[in-house]
Amino acid sequence: MRKTKDIPENYYQYKLKVEFFNKYIPSTQHDVKTLFRHMAEYEKKFRKDLHSFTDDELKVFLVSRKAESVRSLDNTLSTINKYINFCCEKGYVKREDNPVKSFNYKEAKMQLLNSNTSEYALFTAGEIMNIAMGADNAQDGVVLALLFEGLNNKKTFQELINLKYKDVDFDRNEIHLTDRTITITPKTAKLITNAYTQDEYLSVNGDKVRRYKMEKAGFILKGIRGEKQVKPERISQAIIRLAKIAGIKNLRATNVVYSGQNHYAKSLLREKGVMKGFTRNDLRETASRTLRYFGIPVNSNAENNFLLRLENDLDDIKPEKQTAIIDRLKRDKMLVKDLKKVYHNQCQVCDTNLTGIDELAYSEVHHIRPYNEAHNGSDEINNCLVLCPNHHKLFDLGILAINPRDFKSLIHIDEENSLNGKVVEFKHEVDKDNIRYNYKEIFLKRKIQVTN
Ligand SMILES: [Zn+2]
Repeated sequence: MRKTKDIPENYYQYKLKVEFFNKYIPSTQHDVKTLFRHMAEYEKKFRKDLHSFTDDELKVFLVSRKAESVRSLDNTLSTINKYINFCCEKGYVKREDNPVKSFNYKEAKMQLLNSNTSEYALFTAGEIMNIAMGADNAQDGVVLALLFEGLNNKKTFQELINLKYKDVDFDRNEIHLTDRTITITPKTAKLITNAYTQDEYLSVNGDKVRRYKMEKAGFILKGIRGEKQVKPERISQAIIRLAKIAGIKNLRATNVVYSGQNHYAKSLLREKGVMKGFTRNDLRETASRTLRYFGIPVNSNAENNFLLRLENDLDDIKPEKQTAIIDRLKRDKMLVKDLKKVYHNQCQVCDTNLTGIDELAYSEVHHIRPYNEAHNGSDEINNCLVLCPNHHKLFDLGILAINPRDFKSLIHIDEENSLNGKVVEFKHEVDKDNIRYNYKEIFLKRKIQVTN
């Protein structure tokens, strides 16, 4: 029998992996090898073997797999399960829980699927609004728009059902709900007006068109046949009908709400100007603001689930996304040498890695507040910069510093120097006090010395 032929160094702790393969996996099962090679990236990132992954770490890996179906996800989970059990039996790890367990129910699996698959899908604002504006009943279209813009779909749409025309401030494009205010686009405002002025509800079934007179009771969604308020079933049916007309399979209330949440969160990130380099705190803050905006109780579970959906959607800015995840999971434990990896050994000032060859990339870590007895700086990453040897020296000499006015641009002792004002790229958080200290105690002292 042929043994695992590919280079074992591709695996993290390869001896363990090879032992596992030889015991459990037929040599024809290439997908398992691919799985473990992909896994190695994450094992390196988290600096531990798969057998010691937490639920969260496993989740990050599973999301990155972009599984297209529950079945392929099940295969992955079954292999991981086997591997962890193998390591436990052999005594390579001691653990009571198996993280695979947290993904054994359908809801959890759904969140791990690639967002383009049939069960879970996200829509852009443009897509939602096109469907909403094109609806034959404005009463149906407005449902989509409102769910996308921040109304809650919980408790069988109670918030939508109880929404009154007088709750809408058309001058400010706002809706005042009992516990919060949401902002709407002019298109949604128009849809609300159209829905409120609609008198008859069209029910189209094949060639048959039925018209139902609707009740006026101040609610935006109107009841029919003597009912003052709309029934929840009509809302679900409206979405199904719109999905059919638009030829979109996955248009469901939950997906519309998820799409709206991501849209809102991304606009928050854009507002902060951090789309290209957000930190754990940026993401956490965005998550809780978004959940509150959509009327969802904020707890760590809701936050984590939302962040997973959001991170999936931020794929177009992948390196930053990975940094954010590393940040989130490892911030407290991250070591200085990991920081170099975050920057791919590229100097934060000049973007180069000294050798110009990826395999031999070289960088140095600079302590902003010097890491010695005289200055008593810390060895935590919030006191560090990743620099090339030249720029490292300039910082050490106090010739170059970070400007404590904005905590991101450079300041050079020679005011004519072209580095003045250049913005340093940050993918990690730096303690502002360290920057202030460096400026005052190292840079200014040098400057006084030079100019005298
Ligand atoms: Zn440099």
